[in-house]
Amino acid sequence: MIDFSLKGRVVAVTGASRGIGKAIALGCARAGGDIILGARNLDGCAAVAKLCEEYGVKSYCHSLDVESRGSIEEFLRNSASFFGRLDVLVNNAGLTIVRPASELTELEFEKISNINFKAPFFASVCARDLMIKYGTKGVVVNISSQVAHVGGPLRAAYSGAKGGLNSLTRSLAAEWASDGIRVVGVSPTFTNTDMIKKAAKNPEFRENFEKIPLGRPAEPEEIASVVVFLASEAGRFITGETVLVDGGFTTV
Ligand code: NAP
Repeated sequence: MIDFSLKGRVVAVTGASRGIGKAIALGCARAGGDIILGARNLDGCAAVAKLCEEYGVKSYCHSLDVESRGSIEEFLRNSASFFGRLDVLVNNAGLTIVRPASELTELEFEKISNINFKAPFFASVCARDLMIKYGTKGVVVNISSQVAHVGGPLRAAYSGAKGGLNSLTRSLAAEWASDGIRVVGVSPTFTNTDMIKKAAKNPEFRENFEKIPLGRPAEPEEIASVVVFLASEAGRFITGETVLVDGGFTTV
């Protein structure tokens, strides 16, 4: 059996203060990885970091606003320098706004595009430079969404940004394979986090939950386990692929 462990690896997670990012940080810590946690809410990151350390790993928190390229680069450079390496970047921070396309403002469109598409691009480029500097054969994991594969009413801009992210995953994978760096993605269905609680206030949106063949939204840990697999040696021959974790939503 190939190794599913992340022992000896350093994993950076954006948006690690809650939700899926929190589950990814904990999942990677449980697999033995040291964890870098970034978000705007540093207290939230610190609370998650404490839980990570219960698995006997080290953690490092750094403030991060993915809307700023400078903040992304500072987060990654300082954290990689703290550990002396960077092995895995998980581009998890995301934002959706559930609203008819005709009612979305230009500013909201830009915010959605920046957080879900532009930020993962610049974070990945910076992480790749650091992986080369520290001589690690690293992995970038982009957290996408099922809407990138099938679209989603009331989330046109978000769907477009995540669709672009999937394309970015494929293109960077092709470009960086010769560096020994893999780029992969995970596309969750509706998952029980603050994001979905907020969106579910819209009854039209809530109806979607009943369309999941496995009968319920996902739990954050069910997304995290796929991230751990892809980041570990067990996923070593996968690159460019974005894995759907959707309870069958896109099959019907
Ligand atoms: P969430 O509960 O809303 O959490 C979002 C996370 O992103 C938080 O940790 C937040 O931290 C961070 N974040 C937001 N804006 C940020 C910024 N400007 N700079 C740095 N961090 C920022 O969302 P989630 O449900 O866990 O979603 C995580 C990922 O999964 C996203 O990429 C999302 O698109 C994707 N996804 C979610 C679902 C779902 O149903 N939940 C489905 C498909 C895909 P701070 O507020 O502390 O900054």
